[in-house]
Amino acid sequence: RAKARGTSQIVRFRPEMSAQEQERRRLKMELPGALKAGQLQLHYQGQYKLPEQTLSGFEALLRWPHPQLGFISPLTFIGLAEESGLILDLGRWVINEACRQAREWNLDERDLTISVNVSSQQFEHEDFVQDVRQALAQHDLPARCLVVEVTETMIHRDLSLAQATILELQHLGVRVAMDDFGTGYSSLSMLRQLPFQQLKIDRTFLQDLTTAADAKQFTQASQFMKAILELARSVDILVVAEGVECSEQLELLSAMGCDEAQGFLLGRPLPADQVSLPNLQTTRAAG
Ligand code: C2E
Ligand code: MG
Ligand code: MG
Ligand code: MG
Repeated sequence: RAKARGTSQIVRFRPEMSAQEQERRRLKMELPGALKAGQLQLHYQGQYKLPEQTLSGFEALLRWPHPQLGFISPLTFIGLAEESGLILDLGRWVINEACRQAREWNLDERDLTISVNVSSQQFEHEDFVQDVRQALAQHDLPARCLVVEVTETMIHRDLSLAQATILELQHLGVRVAMDDFGTGYSSLSMLRQLPFQQLKIDRTFLQDLTTAADAKQFTQASQFMKAILELARSVDILVVAEGVECSEQLELLSAMGCDEAQGFLLGRPLPADQVSLPNLQTTRAAG
């Protein structure tokens, strides 16, 4: 089997392999080169405070503009990088690039944050906190500008390690968000056992609100949302709703007192050179 021969070997395409499997193998082979050649990019999606809809920061989202295959979704290639172990180098690059961009945009002076997605392998690696510290130092970025997003589905393995890592990050001043809240099997126990400061509600919760077939379904969907918000508020966790696509959803979230929102309605993920920043406040006392 090609796999058993190690990753440095050329992978043979057997004719009986499905087209999808062939493409997966091709991408897995090409990804290290793409990273090395600087072909990967980060796009940035705004995150907004409610109800005023002012910008609070950006989420960095990885993009692979493949020369032949077009833009490849991180949902495809992050998994490949996890399989091959490349995720450690890739993740380090993401954090470094996000910090560099945050410095270039002077996010600290604008009081804006940059959120970065982190894979379990990366988060559980012994060098992770040190890598974060180093990226912040290298770009002279205050830790309060950085938010690390981890998904609840990634933490099963070692809860006490995750706990220690979150506490170390917080000690640095970096905030940690639970991403895709509500999609895993143990969202609530994760929230109870790990000291997250932010929670990003998965967009399926919002979809439930707008696709509800009748009043009863709608009531149920909105009660879920309200309960999450209430719980988060009572333990002082900031809630970000993900995947806001229509003004109806935004109005509901505002009315329910959701802290922040992110989604295509408010802004799509964009390459850095297309992102527009709010004007820097120049009202600070002179001298
Ligand atoms: P995520 O962290 O939950 O990111 C949100 C995803 O929802 C992004 O997909 C974003 O483009 C998409 N999105 C934003 N607003 C809307 C909306 O209104 N409607 C809909 N339908 N989608 C919206 P994307 O960029 O394809 O990323 C998918 C996932 O890949 C991310 O989910 C994250 O888990 C992972 N990912 C992205 N970048 C990185 C990275 O640098 N490192 C790691 N480890 N994972 C990453
Ligand atoms: Mg995320
Ligand atoms: Mg998410
Ligand atoms: Mg997601």
